[in-house]
Amino acid sequence: MRLVTYTFRGTSRAGAMLDDDHVIDLARASEGGGDPLPSDLLSLLRAGDGALERARGALAAAQRRFANDADGMRADGIAFDVHEPGFAFAAPIQRPGKALAIGLNYRAHAAETGATLPERPIVFTKVDTSLSDPGTPIHVPKVSSNVDWEGELVVVIGRDARHVSKAHALDYVAGYMNGQDVSVRDFQRHAATWTMGKGFDTHGPTGPYLVTTDEIPDPGALQLRTYVNDVLKQDSATNDLIFDVPTLIEYISQAMTLRPGDIIFTGTPSGVGQARSPQEWLTPGDTVRVSISKLGDLVNPVIAEP
Ligand code: ZN
Repeated sequence: MRLVTYTFRGTSRAGAMLDDDHVIDLARASEGGGDPLPSDLLSLLRAGDGALERARGALAAAQRRFANDADGMRADGIAFDVHEPGFAFAAPIQRPGKALAIGLNYRAHAAETGATLPERPIVFTKVDTSLSDPGTPIHVPKVSSNVDWEGELVVVIGRDARHVSKAHALDYVAGYMNGQDVSVRDFQRHAATWTMGKGFDTHGPTGPYLVTTDEIPDPGALQLRTYVNDVLKQDSATNDLIFDVPTLIEYISQAMTLRPGDIIFTGTPSGVGQARSPQEWLTPGDTVRVSISKLGDLVNPVIAEP
């Protein structure tokens, strides 16, 4: 199931992809079957496995109805065409409880930066104001031009996880999204912690889909590609991860409880702009796209910070 947060004429709601061109509103589609489902994905995930199962049921029923009553479903505000005016995708998880990220987590990326392979995951945070939506502009900030792309697989947690072993870690995952851990390299070097360089406004888009784990049983078997202006810049299998998704969950949950809707950017593969010769940076007018197997395309234009 591809879960989404969509906005229509300014209102943001939880939905699911009916097919590649249509979204259903989960709360409205579930009316008549007991309490309607929550109208935002964070609440849906926090409501547990039962709510996800009901979402699956509502989607299946909507697919059956859509085959012969598409117009009625549009009129009822249950189905939307993703191309219609006023419709947009938003980051699937709006305001996650926490957004973590992993540095230097692909072998070839560690090599291209000249870093030695880390012995343990390098965990940092993406601050709330850095998180942003598909389609919305990434800013080249007033104070730096060293803006780099980092296409990443993002994990969305589905159940409270504390002291979880690697062997069971994937049971705690709700699904996966494309992500872009935009990085301001000069600010990243200002201090030992990367909060500033990774924390600029608009520098953490995710989406457009949160694809549930039934469709992605193995997060280590995906292909991740990043394009700038349709030129391929990053192309890596996620099996090049130094610390795979189960290992990250085991390690992080030793310290903190991971909660439903928490997100983890798992690190970027080789091919970033900083490591190129000559170095390349995102500039206003560029378009950057992250495309991971089964997760769709996350596309963001680049503009000068207004
Ligand atoms: Zn990163």
